[in-house]
Amino acid sequence: MGHARTFWTAWQRARDAGGALIMRMEDLDPDRSKSAYAEAAYEDLRWLGIRWQEGPDKGGPFAPYVQSRRRAIYLAAWRRLLKLGYLYPCRCSRKDLETALGAPHERVSVQGSLGGGKLDMEDDDPVYPGTCRRLLGNVSQLPGPTASGMDMPEGFNWRFRVPDGEAIEFLDRNLGPQRFVAGVDFGDFVVWRRDGVPSYQLACVADDAAMGITEVVRGADLLKSTARQMLLNRALGYRDPLWFHCRLVVDHNGRRLAKRHDSLSLRALRQRGLTPMNILSAELPVEV
Ligand SMILES: [Zn+2]
Repeated sequence: MGHARTFWTAWQRARDAGGALIMRMEDLDPDRSKSAYAEAAYEDLRWLGIRWQEGPDKGGPFAPYVQSRRRAIYLAAWRRLLKLGYLYPCRCSRKDLETALGAPHERVSVQGSLGGGKLDMEDDDPVYPGTCRRLLGNVSQLPGPTASGMDMPEGFNWRFRVPDGEAIEFLDRNLGPQRFVAGVDFGDFVVWRRDGVPSYQLACVADDAAMGITEVVRGADLLKSTARQMLLNRALGYRDPLWFHCRLVVDHNGRRLAKRHDSLSLRALRQRGLTPMNILSAELPVEV
């Protein structure tokens, strides 16, 4: 329900601006992505009354709109970042990270915007302690040549070296001024996973640029990801889109709806007889 309302907001904003709403299926996480889920999502959102102009089911000038079929684009972005000296391979296991951070870290799985593939959503992750960055020796944080002849990312987690201490600021069109400090609020983040899957951050940035996205509408749980994506945009020479983050809808216990998969799914609400109007007009508490 939270996701549906966010997508509804995206649709309204696209309409008001005379733009197009784009449905992009973020299905990079093989464990969580099944075509039946995608079909169900299209169906539920159509039932709600949302219409998108470009998408997997409609085609469009920037097809395919399914991330699992756009790997070549992400690989090109990875190669460019590597060549520019922004990336390094990280050999740390999850256990290494827990040890380095001093306490076992319970990885919180946060579902981001619509679709799956958010396994690497790292907004609440601790800052990477920099173990593998130090192995590089005294290398400048700014772009420079990397003595890596690697052409394929397989076998490592590849991390983006963030400019420690730099404040990343942006004006959110809904929530106002935002500020995150690299190396403090978030650390070197993964752009390509050991298991061969590009990260959400990299795929998102590469697609937003390739698809000519002018405004991103998504949940406030992704604010910190936006700061990371701004660094990727800058490194790759892409212009930032405008950002509009929606406050997260919570239940009566203050728990984010996105973390619940049961009673408040659109499908379940439909089956209980709620109408699109009931769902879209309901006054719901939001996270502050
Ligand atoms: Zn490492």
